[in-house]
Amino acid sequence: MTALFHDRLIVAVLASGSRGNCTYIGDGRTGVLVDCGISTKQILLRMEQIGLADAPISGVFITHEHSDHVAAARVLDDRIFKRDGHRIPFHMTMGTHQRLSDRVRPQNVQRVTPGRSFRLGSLTVEPTAVPHDGVDPVAYAFESGGARAGVITDLGRSTKLVEAKLASLDVAVLEFNHDVEMLMEGSYPWQLKQRIRSSHGHLSNAQSAELLTRAASAGRLREVMLAHLSDENNRPERALLAADAAVSRARRSDIRLHVGKQREPLAPVTADVPLEAVQRRPRPARVSPKIRPTSAAPTADQMSLFTG
Ligand SMILES: [Zn+2]
Ligand SMILES: [Zn+2]
Repeated sequence: MTALFHDRLIVAVLASGSRGNCTYIGDGRTGVLVDCGISTKQILLRMEQIGLADAPISGVFITHEHSDHVAAARVLDDRIFKRDGHRIPFHMTMGTHQRLSDRVRPQNVQRVTPGRSFRLGSLTVEPTAVPHDGVDPVAYAFESGGARAGVITDLGRSTKLVEAKLASLDVAVLEFNHDVEMLMEGSYPWQLKQRIRSSHGHLSNAQSAELLTRAASAGRLREVMLAHLSDENNRPERALLAADAAVSRARRSDIRLHVGKQREPLAPVTADVPLEAVQRRPRPARVSPKIRPTSAAPTADQMSLFTG
């Protein structure tokens, strides 16, 4: 066990973006990867770079069948088998499993059902259905010793369930996929633009910001990693500006924001909470319906900061 853990739940975004996603979540005893959309070599290299070389990989959780989430599954399976001598479980929904090509299908597949929690070692795992153009896509939340972390990406719109789940986390990896203006003015074909914007596409900065305001208002969230930013249709500054405005609206400027990167890992963030904060902490998830921000999009003035 590395010195980093001491039985704390940590979250490390190893890669995030349209060209591959992978996040490590673990408490030192049990550790998982959420998605494996970059090469096995890069996954292990990046874990090493941020001090997680010896961190356990007890299982992999696939959100859906798109290649930016599952590309390494088969090679990773074989590599860990060679290294550790056993096949780790790859958890996914039935729909995801059915859509996997033989080229990426791992050997030990375990089925998850949205809404049905279960234990993997010292972690409790909670899969939640999300609206996206995969067959049966999910987001995942994990709990260890009362600390909660989760990965919510690849969804075209928020739902009450997603909002409640996000509000229940200490640390969240949350999609901020595109800036609507950049998407619409960009070079993508019309159909692709419509697909991305649809209710089964991806969350825009404005949509994610609105979701973040509501969830943050519940009082629990402490760290948010902005994730799955489009290389072509977003900029880290734009996503951050939207997220910053969102937490301000929720009067939660204490929430720390990070931007996940495509080419390098983020340093691990811990999801444990000081005892006094646990005692003060409000119950998760019930968000007042009165909090309805009109728009989360940055104003034209704010935007001019970045467009010159
Ligand atoms: Zn997808
Ligand atoms: Zn994706």
